[in-house]
Amino acid sequence: MTTPVLRLESVRKSFGEQVVLRDIDLAVPTHSVTALIGASGSGKSTLMRCANLLETLDDGAIFLDEEDITDPRADEDSVRRRIGVVFQAYNLFPHMTVLDNITLAPRRVHGLGRAEAEAKALELLDRLGLAAKATEYPDRLSGGQQQRVAIVRALATGPRLLLLDEITAALDPELVGEVLAVVRDLKEQGMTMVLSTHEMSFAREVADQVCFLDAGVVLEQGPPEQVFGDPQQERTRQFLSRIV
Ligand code: ADP
Ligand code: MG
Repeated sequence: MTTPVLRLESVRKSFGEQVVLRDIDLAVPTHSVTALIGASGSGKSTLMRCANLLETLDDGAIFLDEEDITDPRADEDSVRRRIGVVFQAYNLFPHMTVLDNITLAPRRVHGLGRAEAEAKALELLDRLGLAAKATEYPDRLSGGQQQRVAIVRALATGPRLLLLDEITAALDPELVGEVLAVVRDLKEQGMTMVLSTHEMSFAREVADQVCFLDAGVVLEQGPPEQVFGDPQQERTRQFLSRIV
């Protein structure tokens, strides 16, 4: 078996008295897409925040290319460069143009020169059909365009892994498709991704493995045909019948 890009080993996380992740084990193979599904509050965002070192674990470990990134000696900047993140709400900096939003991290964190960072950004924008928006400010873009720019920004440091946390949840329904199309393209290009979504038909289509989280436990995990088509747990069946 090849080395997973991301691996969680007995990950535990609590907030005060509340245990939010209980002994989570998860391996994300290279070039694969993992969809996290589950009710609000089941721990999807916390899992991704732990992987991006925005939260510290109570127990367990997380490995990126088999390097223990939860080791206190791990270099957080290096980890964040290798993991691109996009959240639900467009989190572009409103006072910066699209191009400046995208080139900020490559220039600050990677130490890339402006010309090189901009050339790379324009190439990515072009690939997503957004080259004409490079000098616009975020509020001049539709929600779908903003979210696509946020994806470009996450890609700009050349990450090994993308974490996409409900990236279509705040969009008007008619704008969801263009964002999901980008995810589909990235999968075709072999990008390794972990995403959380309430779009079950999309998860079914794009995911190689689906993880159903329930109160901080991976209750069911497997290929989409199995989790959606033949769920083994009553709670999974309940969740799916409510949502689809
Ligand atoms: P999901 O993304 O699946 O909706 P979250 O990971 O956001 O779930 O939340 C899991 C649980 O952890 C929820 O009960 C939430 O209220 C709690 N939680 C998340 N972040 C914090 C925090 N910073 N402080 C306290 N509780 C939190
Ligand atoms: Mg969430």
